[in-house]
Amino acid sequence: MNLLESMVADDSEQVIALQNRAAGLRGFLAIHDTTLGPALGGIRLWRYANEDEAIEDVLRLSRAMTLKAALAELPAGGGKTVLVDHPGLRRVEAFEALGCLIESLGGRYFSGPDVGVTGADLDAVGRHTRYVALESAPGLGDISEMTAIGVWHGMRACLDFAGIRRAKVAIQGAGNVGLALGRILRREGMEIVVADIDPERARAAGEELGARVVAPQEILAADVAVLAPCALGGAIDADVARQLRARVVCGSANNVLATPDVADCLAERGIVYAPDYLVNAGGLIRGAEYYLLHRADSAPSLARIYDRMRNVLEMARERAVSTAAVAEELARARLTASKKFPQLTWRHPLC
Ligand code: NAD
Repeated sequence: MNLLESMVADDSEQVIALQNRAAGLRGFLAIHDTTLGPALGGIRLWRYANEDEAIEDVLRLSRAMTLKAALAELPAGGGKTVLVDHPGLRRVEAFEALGCLIESLGGRYFSGPDVGVTGADLDAVGRHTRYVALESAPGLGDISEMTAIGVWHGMRACLDFAGIRRAKVAIQGAGNVGLALGRILRREGMEIVVADIDPERARAAGEELGARVVAPQEILAADVAVLAPCALGGAIDADVARQLRARVVCGSANNVLATPDVADCLAERGIVYAPDYLVNAGGLIRGAEYYLLHRADSAPSLARIYDRMRNVLEMARERAVSTAAVAEELARARLTASKKFPQLTWRHPLC
């Protein structure tokens, strides 16, 4: 991979390679865009097969954070950190070293949780920086639950648009968001099918949610009205899109479409697709409102995901284009407007 060329293609501001031999820290921190405010984005710990895979992931994820923040009308930009999980990783030391690095950026990047990272990891980061969303922050609430609430608002909009009243929902991934979403769906009286590559998580989710557990390879083509991908990105490629039986795809997984053209494939099949960064913005909205705007309650902002989703669905129908195309156009329009009017552009106090 040619990093600079990829950054130009993505219009990415900065990528920092992270290395600390004593701590076994290896990874990348990407600041995609700070036009609207500090780059917000979680820390992911994953067993990447090679360096290119990690770089591709951090670029894609940080870009999605920019679009997510812009679409949610937040005074924030997009960033992300990916760390390589490997046998030499000394977990506590690595997250502490990362905290030092984040602090040195002086607030240009604000971190939080993502896949593979625990509350204890974030506490280690937080021992060395102010710029991290901690589970223990008083009044912040559970970020993954906020994400799930946002996905639910988005899902409601899709169901209303598609004229579906009571739905059977397949949840791929019973992790933090998948399980929280399952709890909401259960309260709403929906029938749930669940799968997780971790058999214990799948079993526990099945028991708590009263859900049918299926094998991971069966969940995407399950005979349901709604598919909620809440695992990793790239789950839906063209083949999967052709085999889907669900009429709605709405979940939390970032970059869920393997390639952008899959959105057209879904649209052609009449499947209602909720762009991931539109409906999974709940955690980001809560974090930004808590840390940047000092709001006690983000419930009204989370509920606005319903209106945004409805708007995107209606615009896509009117123009006969995919929902992904409309969402990206709306997010980019906000960024472009800010770039045109520099007085609206965020400046860090130290700049
Ligand atoms: P998590 O690590 O808690 O849960 C992910 C779950 O998916 C795990 O239980 C894992 O075993 C399972 N999984 C992985 N691959 C699978 C597969 N092929 N089939 C079935 N299960 C599989 O992560 P999370 O915090 O719940 O996040 C889930 C997704 O939502 C991620 O893509 C994340 O980037 C995205 N997201 C999370 C948040 C948040 O607030 N946590 C916010 C926005 C987006």
